Amino acid sequence: MSKQSALIASLPTELWLGGIATPASNGARFDVLDPATGDVLSSVADASPEDAVAALDRAVAVQASWAATPARERGEILRRAFELLHSRADDFALLMTLEMGKSLQESHGEVKYGGEFLRWFSEEAVRIGGRFTQAPAGNGRILATKAPVGPVLAITPWNFPLAMGTRKIGPALAAGCTVIVKPAEDTPLTMLLLGQVFADAGLPEGVLSILPTSDAAGVSGPLMEDPRLRKVTFTGSTGVGKLLVRASAERLLRTSMELGGNAPFIVFDDADIDAAVDGAMLAKMRNGGEACTAANRLYVANSVREEFTQKLTARIAALKVGPGVTPGTDIGPLINSKQLATVTALVEDAVAKGARVRTGGQAPGGVGFFFTPTVIDEVPNTANLLRDEIFGPVAAVIGFDTEDEAIAAANDTQYGLVSYFYTRDLDRAMRVSSALDTGMVGVNRGAISDAAAPFGGVKESGFGREGGSEGIDEYLETKYIALQ
Ligand code: ADP
Repeated sequence: MSKQSALIASLPTELWLGGIATPASNGARFDVLDPATGDVLSSVADASPEDAVAALDRAVAVQASWAATPARERGEILRRAFELLHSRADDFALLMTLEMGKSLQESHGEVKYGGEFLRWFSEEAVRIGGRFTQAPAGNGRILATKAPVGPVLAITPWNFPLAMGTRKIGPALAAGCTVIVKPAEDTPLTMLLLGQVFADAGLPEGVLSILPTSDAAGVSGPLMEDPRLRKVTFTGSTGVGKLLVRASAERLLRTSMELGGNAPFIVFDDADIDAAVDGAMLAKMRNGGEACTAANRLYVANSVREEFTQKLTARIAALKVGPGVTPGTDIGPLINSKQLATVTALVEDAVAKGARVRTGGQAPGGVGFFFTPTVIDEVPNTANLLRDEIFGPVAAVIGFDTEDEAIAAANDTQYGLVSYFYTRDLDRAMRVSSALDTGMVGVNRGAISDAAAPFGGVKESGFGREGGSEGIDEYLETKYIALQ
């Protein structure tokens, strides 16, 4: 049996109901595809609304005891999960490549990145603070304490099947919350395997449930209507984020929203061009461009535009496209046929409106959901891809003349997740960093994600922060105790 089939045959594929593998109550299952071939990889149990309520019953039953578990013990469970994840890195990497499509190298990168949230929050669990002051009037004392929010619903996307889960599960468990994860329907297998890791790390039964489903709204709806659920944390599209925020209003649920991006990447005339090309490769091509942090719009000073574009084009044209499992592959397939159609339509629209293709520009055809890595420049203002997330290996270059013009163009979007820029001028670096209306700014670097940093956006990219010392606050309530 090949390594691949042995892994697939050994995977947990039932619902993970509070730590117990359980078939869906109605017996339903759905298929998971390999995007490199379009073939069925496996099938998983398909949670029903009743299964969701059963998961919440279990979470509620152990919420108080989990919250009362010493923080050190919660931290040590997270630490053991971090170590177990690393001891199974090859399996996790192969599995993510199989169900999501990214190259094995990228998947190993995600094991490392995703694992860091477990390690970081294992350390943060014991640093949940509080505050004590004298009342200014001298008539008492003010004690501000922190308590876990309570049972959490975490809805995650397919582009980082592991890390978008650990980034929510890590702080929630550290804070003392129970968690129900609803992974994306395209990539449920990685999260189910992570459930096994947590069980082996000693997580008590009931604390973590994982519910793959083909009916996301059907499963999240009854949970969000249930007064026992206290929090929804979501990473995904802005459209679905808005639906969830609206639904959360009914019961004033706490929410954290990591939504879409439309990142500008600005190369000023004083930039180190080679460094900027390296940064653009990361910011654009990491994860095959399927990242909310992906550089969607490359604004390049006209005086260096041709040099930058030529160098970028050479690098992008040299990328090897193929199944993620093939050694040497740089860019795997897109996640599914819908995404392939979206990327194709965005490129066709830009070209029809006058953009120039420097390399790539279309899908190669054949099996799998591949799109050839592409550079287009002279992209007109009217092109849809300047407004919509591309989520694919397509770099769009736009020229500019002045700093003010670049900043105005960069901010001309409803999104505000991240921006990047390259300059060698320190004054400009400070000035532009504060002028860019995004939750995160990369200065002379093309990758910003770090478990120790607060990740999150402004405007329609959402609210709340994941990672850093801020990340755990999303799962804590403040309680004020007035002491006489
Ligand atoms: P994408 O377009 O990247 O697939 P989505 O926002 O559609 O992003 O998906 C992100 C996550 O949100 C997935 O787990 C998906 O199943 C879930 N989801 C999609 N629609 C809904 C909905 N109406 N209610 C709750 N979750 C949803």
